[in-house]
Amino acid sequence: MSSDVFESLKKRYLTLRKKEVIRVLKVQDAIVSEIRDFLKGECFVEILAPIIGPVTDPGIRGAKQISFDYYGARFKVMSSMILYKQVMMTSLPKIFALSPNIRLEPLETVKTRRHLTEFRQIDLEVAHATYKDMMELGERMLCHIITKVKHRCSKELEEQKRVLKVPQKPFKKYTYKEALEILKNLGINVNFGLEIPWEAEEALSKIHKEPFWITDFPVEARGFYYMEHEDNLGILDLGILKDFDLIYPEGFGEAVSGGEREYRYNKIVERMRASEENISEYGWYLDMLKAGVPPSAGFGIGVERLTRFICGLENIWDAVPFPKVAGVLSS
Ligand code: ASP
Ligand code: MG
Repeated sequence: MSSDVFESLKKRYLTLRKKEVIRVLKVQDAIVSEIRDFLKGECFVEILAPIIGPVTDPGIRGAKQISFDYYGARFKVMSSMILYKQVMMTSLPKIFALSPNIRLEPLETVKTRRHLTEFRQIDLEVAHATYKDMMELGERMLCHIITKVKHRCSKELEEQKRVLKVPQKPFKKYTYKEALEILKNLGINVNFGLEIPWEAEEALSKIHKEPFWITDFPVEARGFYYMEHEDNLGILDLGILKDFDLIYPEGFGEAVSGGEREYRYNKIVERMRASEENISEYGWYLDMLKAGVPPSAGFGIGVERLTRFICGLENIWDAVPFPKVAGVLSS
């Protein structure tokens, strides 16, 4: 990455006034308001996201969490509000939040052009829903946003030279196993059980012209809170999850992660042990599971990544007013 890029990130007070930046911020405003409109039309209640707490999402693909001293105890900055989405299910059956997240990504993520260390996701959860329900909702939501934003921001998208098509529903679906086979045919080998590396995911994304799903990831690759299929589909001897990622086409990569939740105390403790989580940190979460929480499913969609895709931006840091990129000491 050229040092000019880093220097310009440090001088955001100068670049923020450029017309190219202003244009993207206007499209982003339309995206966020259309998401809100869509979800409110589906009877979701918007809640205020937590920012800190004693525990946060451990399933963050090699990124680090931020811990700090909170009146003598260790607290963390939210890497995602997943655990809080589950507790919300005891209160309201359909919720969403515009949730700010911090993930200290490895330095090499600068090269992916789609990782920020501070980002926001529209994080939603529905009680008693299946992961398939959530995929269907995700497709409708993305098509709705693209249709509306194309119309509202036609001038900006034209200036951006972005030709954006409303995707065809239903989107293509591959299981993780099928995705690994496609990658093998592209000459990329990924061992079953591992997360799909960023470069491999980008290669998959590049050979698609429409968004597509990857479902049924292996237990080892993901957080303890996703529900396992009862029958492991006869695939090796590994557990398979009822979860999904949505991948944008044209090389833009991951858009959404989500799935059905494990909500049973004993199963969660088993999964925490298997993934070597420090169980003693999860006090309130485990107490909540013991008291009982409804089954649910949900997902998170990154707002900056959606903006990058809709505007056709090369770099994610052009999709946020105050970008935080791994290793760059910007404002
Ligand atoms: N917590 C997940 C993430 O941030 C999203 C979800 O499963 O709701 O990747
Ligand atoms: Mg993800």
